[in-house]
Amino acid sequence: MPESIVIVTGGSRGIGAAACQSAAELGHTILVNYASNKAAADQVVADIEAAGGKAFAVQGDVRSEADILALFKACDDRGTLAGLVNNAGVVDMPCRVDEMTVERLSRMFEINLTGSFLCAREAVRRMSTRHGGKGGAIVNLSSAAAKLGAAAQYVDYAASKGAIDTFTVGLAREVADEGIRVNGIRPGIIDTEIHASGGQPERVAMIEASLPMKRAGTAGEVAKAIKWLLSDEASYTTGAILDVSGGRSILP
Ligand code: NAP
Repeated sequence: MPESIVIVTGGSRGIGAAACQSAAELGHTILVNYASNKAAADQVVADIEAAGGKAFAVQGDVRSEADILALFKACDDRGTLAGLVNNAGVVDMPCRVDEMTVERLSRMFEINLTGSFLCAREAVRRMSTRHGGKGGAIVNLSSAAAKLGAAAQYVDYAASKGAIDTFTVGLAREVADEGIRVNGIRPGIIDTEIHASGGQPERVAMIEASLPMKRAGTAGEVAKAIKWLLSDEASYTTGAILDVSGGRSILP
């Protein structure tokens, strides 16, 4: 019996790491992708194995098509793809649109959007019944920013996530009768290192009191939703985008 594999891009830290743990609980072998933090990815693998699951780490930058092809080859070498979590994503320094460089915009859209498209392309080629596959599930990480716009912070990031929402709905309909469900999640403010990577390490602490629940979410809380969307429990759910934002995304 070949191993059933779920690929989590950006699985080494934050929401991706929690998603790896949760998806492993479904009985899948987890391909923990990471960009550069091998130690963090190895720790995710060790934690899954300590809990009785199976996982392996594969380096790859989703900005590179060659890396994405190698990632899926590593999956093929080990077993059969059953799911993809398009989680790898970046923010950037707070900046107005009238200050944005083409280099910044290229990085943002190549990682957050093109990378997700290319990973989904490879997943559909393997999972679609049209291509002889057995079906599967794709979960795309959007953001509450897709609705809020992230003015004076990173409108480019928000726009990349708005595009992820459209991509989710379109791909879901494209492969709905090919055994593949495609759904999205819009997290609100989640306590991970992404805020420090955008030059705002204090962002969670500063914003928390203004949030509807007066607290940020945890990566584990988002991972529970990812786990459900990956699972057969969500067998009639496709093209859905779930707000896991503690009510933040309904604010004006
Ligand atoms: P994070 O803590 O910054 O972790 C980012 C992960 O993505 C790391 O595993 C990192 O790998 C990986 N990564 C970054 N660039 C990559 C690339 N080019 N190729 C492959 N992997 C790459 O982020 P997070 O907060 O968990 O966010 C995860 C997703 O949720 C993102 O799509 C983000 O936009 C979305 N989201 C987050 C929040 C939030 O408040 N945290 C809110 C809404 C949406 P290394 O460890 O190797 O660097």
